[in-house]
Amino acid sequence: MPSTRLNNLAFLIFNSTFISIRIIAIRKSQFENSYLCPMQLSYWEYDRYFKHIDVAIVGSGIVGLSAAFYLKKKFPKKKIVVLERSFLPYGASTRNAGFACFGSITELQDDLTIMSEDEVFTLVEKRYKGLQRLRHHLGDKNIRYIPCGGYELFTQQDKAVYQKAIEEQHYFNTTIGKLLGKKDIYTNEDKHIKKFGFRNIEHLIKNRLEGQIDTGRMMDTLSEKVRHLGVNILTGIPVDRFEASGDSLTIFANGVEIKTKQLLICTNGFAKNLLPELDVAPARAQVLVTKPIENLNWEGTFHYDRGYYYFRNIGNRILLGGGRNLDFKTEHTTEFGLTTLVQERLKELLHETIAPGKNVEIERQWSGIMGLGSSKKTIVQQVDKNVFCAVRMGGMGVALGMMIGEEAAGIIYN
Ligand SMILES: Cc1cc2nc3c(=O)[nH]c(=O)nc-3n(C[C@H](O)[C@H](O)[C@H](O)COP(=O)(O)OP(=O)(O)OC[C@H]3O[C@@H](n4cnc5c(N)ncnc54)[C@H](O)[C@@H]3O)c2cc1C
Repeated sequence: MPSTRLNNLAFLIFNSTFISIRIIAIRKSQFENSYLCPMQLSYWEYDRYFKHIDVAIVGSGIVGLSAAFYLKKKFPKKKIVVLERSFLPYGASTRNAGFACFGSITELQDDLTIMSEDEVFTLVEKRYKGLQRLRHHLGDKNIRYIPCGGYELFTQQDKAVYQKAIEEQHYFNTTIGKLLGKKDIYTNEDKHIKKFGFRNIEHLIKNRLEGQIDTGRMMDTLSEKVRHLGVNILTGIPVDRFEASGDSLTIFANGVEIKTKQLLICTNGFAKNLLPELDVAPARAQVLVTKPIENLNWEGTFHYDRGYYYFRNIGNRILLGGGRNLDFKTEHTTEFGLTTLVQERLKELLHETIAPGKNVEIERQWSGIMGLGSSKKTIVQQVDKNVFCAVRMGGMGVALGMMIGEEAAGIIYN
């Protein structure tokens, strides 16, 4: 228990032969201000939600929910619970841009400088398959999937970057084409630049297989599916730590001890809090969305500056995010928040390049936390006898989520 928690402690030890939950320690302020903590569980609550848990999954993002989905489908009789610290998922899955993408050429070229060809293209395949699963299980209509295509933008200053991309276009088309069974995925679309009305854009490369989804509806549909299968998604349960000894596994969450047979950690950018040895670093990403814009007559997902910026339309609004590269150090954090530096750059890009001459007002700004590492390879592994993790989704976890959830479910009962 962290030392700050030792102040103002009220001790309650609750033990019975029927109920093996011990409420250990509760901060005084929590008594006064919250009806959720401490959880002095009733017999009914314990019996319904916490007794005889087979698998506890920490984190109700797309990965945690997908793992629950596949596990419960495969083992309908197992008791599976998802433990989420917040009243909504509070990481990246409900806060992202909703690109259904698997890699633009320049981003993949960057990836090839730190990963092998095999690793890069395996990841591309997983993203593509993950998206197929998402669409198949949740339904295009429910997640508002729009196969609008995605575009990579190049300015005059990006001449060399564009040149390299176009030289390798054939290589990416044949390599990825073979993997996905698709032809001519990436095409030059310079002839369409004018119709978008962007300023200073000299070249466009289209990925015809990219699309958009409605992030909120996607997560809502997924959690509905998971609940419908009989999984309890319990919110307001921040897991502090766990203890594994032999076959016994105990989770400590806000003063409550929860026994489980297996534990799967899907906390992505926050993974180090529970598994400090993992190579996963938090990375904050900031986003803004505009109010509806008159005569916004384009549709698509767009990548700019090797993927450091990205934007799309949401109906007749623009969602724009990125700019982490302006200050990697500050954005290397698990703290949600906005900075003037990034937000001002986003606004500049919006007004000067994306919607020049249009009357554009910002409606909302927010941030989300991703999980990155020295490689973009996801980490799906066993970390102890009965403890597993599925983390490090990088910037394309919407695409990877269902695939990685399935992989995680597969290693738990293999
Ligand atoms: C701004 C932004 C834009 C993005 N855009 C895209 C995009 O367009 N396309 C794409 O494919 N990907 C995108 N991503 C990445 C994608 O959203 C993530 O990779 C993906 O959502 C990760 O899912 P996850 O389930 O692994 O993690 P998360 O969604 O972060 O879920 C982890 C969950 O664990 C919970 N948690 C953490 N610690 C604890 C604890 N101790 N106890 C209990 N619960 C805990 C958190 O509250 C959270 O709900 C974007 C990310 C951001 C931030």
